[in-house]
Amino acid sequence: MQLRKAAPVLGQMQNRPLALPHVFHRAEQMFGHKPLTGIGVGGAVTSTTYADWAQRVRRTAAALDALGVAGDARVGTFCWNTLAHLELYFAVPCTGRVLHTLNIRLFPEQLVYIVDHADDEVIFVERALLGQLWPLVDQMPRVRKFVVIDDGADTEIPDDERIVDHEELLASVEPFTGAFEIEDENTAAAMCYTSGTTGNPKGVVYSHRSSVLHSISLLMADVAGISERDVILPIVPMFHANAWGTPYGAVLCGASIVMPGPNMVPKAIAGMLRDHDVTVTAGVPTIWMGVLPELERAEVPHLRLLLCGGSAVPRSLSEGWREKIGLPITQAWGMTETSPIATTGMLRSIHDGLSDDELADVRATQGQVTPLVELRLADPDSGEIVPWDGTSSGELQAAGPWIAASYYRNEDGGKQFTADGWLRTGDVAIIDPTGYVRLVDRTKDLVKSGGEWISSVDMENQIMGMPEVAEAAVIAVPDEKWSERPLACVVIRDGAELTAEQVKEYLATKVAKWQIPDDVVFIDEVPKTSTGKFSKKTLREKFAAERG
Ligand code: ADP
Repeated sequence: MQLRKAAPVLGQMQNRPLALPHVFHRAEQMFGHKPLTGIGVGGAVTSTTYADWAQRVRRTAAALDALGVAGDARVGTFCWNTLAHLELYFAVPCTGRVLHTLNIRLFPEQLVYIVDHADDEVIFVERALLGQLWPLVDQMPRVRKFVVIDDGADTEIPDDERIVDHEELLASVEPFTGAFEIEDENTAAAMCYTSGTTGNPKGVVYSHRSSVLHSISLLMADVAGISERDVILPIVPMFHANAWGTPYGAVLCGASIVMPGPNMVPKAIAGMLRDHDVTVTAGVPTIWMGVLPELERAEVPHLRLLLCGGSAVPRSLSEGWREKIGLPITQAWGMTETSPIATTGMLRSIHDGLSDDELADVRATQGQVTPLVELRLADPDSGEIVPWDGTSSGELQAAGPWIAASYYRNEDGGKQFTADGWLRTGDVAIIDPTGYVRLVDRTKDLVKSGGEWISSVDMENQIMGMPEVAEAAVIAVPDEKWSERPLACVVIRDGAELTAEQVKEYLATKVAKWQIPDDVVFIDEVPKTSTGKFSKKTLREKFAAERG
């Protein structure tokens, strides 16, 4: 049966843009007294207020004009989670420019590629990180200025006309005094590159509208429920899908924010949770595994939400927190392409009365679908939609107002989007009839270690570039600390000789240090599928079972 259709009667509400200037102006007006703490100028722990921050945002906005940065330019940041970064988070998009957060862990070639692909005109870089960026400067000819942020480091600053001192720049201008305005809510606000399975990283471009809507979702009680009363410590880096949207969400509701800076050792994070009476924090499993031994409940009585995602949260880790601190982990799932929050593990009334053990099972899922996000499962072979029945699995596909519709400059050939516009996530999941998602596998050929991607295909190609190697396959094996680590399975050419050390030494010249496999195993042959492709599944099953 078809329902009757007719031309719609239009609603008569004002069509005001959903845009970040509203978030900024509201915070400036209503929360001027609220504290912002964390790593500030000179790398020192600084206590400031929203009012001071807002003035510095206004100064930065004026400074971008003074530097001659185009009104629609991409502005790169090469920074940790700091107060200066939070200034750029608003000054750049509120002036119509696009914030491009550069992942400081990328290998030089990828960094050069994304700076060029995004066409960054200027990059704000912390002084300690300049040593990583400056050697690449000749490969970034279109970047006109590098604004160096004082973080207390004594990295040598080159004598070069492209270098600008951040504080001098801000001091040289008067703060912009008007109202920021973005007329079209679909204007790009920020962008973030995500590693492709093969080939180059792909740019995800967030709009003002998607950023505002995603922020609102974080304020929903059944998603993360953050509010003005919270003290939020984003541990997930601001170059990772906007720290999962926590900075924009926190400013929208006027929560106190603590910016941790570069010190990611567990003791330091535990200290920040303690010293600032943090109520909400977010990070990958590797982080919370390290922090747990450093804390007692009495020291963090206010901590109420420990958001964790990026990789599956082991049941034992969540239970470890519940048993010791009385606070289990709340798992979330998403991708750079989904802004990223698409599910969170808040419990519902259906879970009332369940035993601790049963609750731990619910928490081991990736959580329930966030309002406004739509998820569906598709059979990987036939493409047919699979029901949410708690047992059938399929490729997870996503749609919604903060889900990417395409990549920057449309690079992808459409492979990652279905004909009807849904994002193919590359994750395989089961969804139960009440909307809780459980990931069971991955179709994308990647390894996720400590929250960062490693492309197995790229690494295989590197290894197969060694003259002694006939074939190589790189698979993910479970790892307690890093969630996953790459394992290289190598077939040596007849008559050649090769050691694991030689493979690792060779890779050290090709990939970032943290990506080098801890282990290289030698096998007689890489198992193949019926169509002759590498059967990674067979290798994964063999080695994951041996090492899991
Ligand atoms: P982020 O690391 O910010 O979540 P990425 O785009 O780098 O974003 O990675 C997204 C991918 O990470 C997902 O498609 C999925 O494979 C994996 N992932 C994210 N959250 C979880 C989770 N809670 N459990 C298992 N895998 C996850």
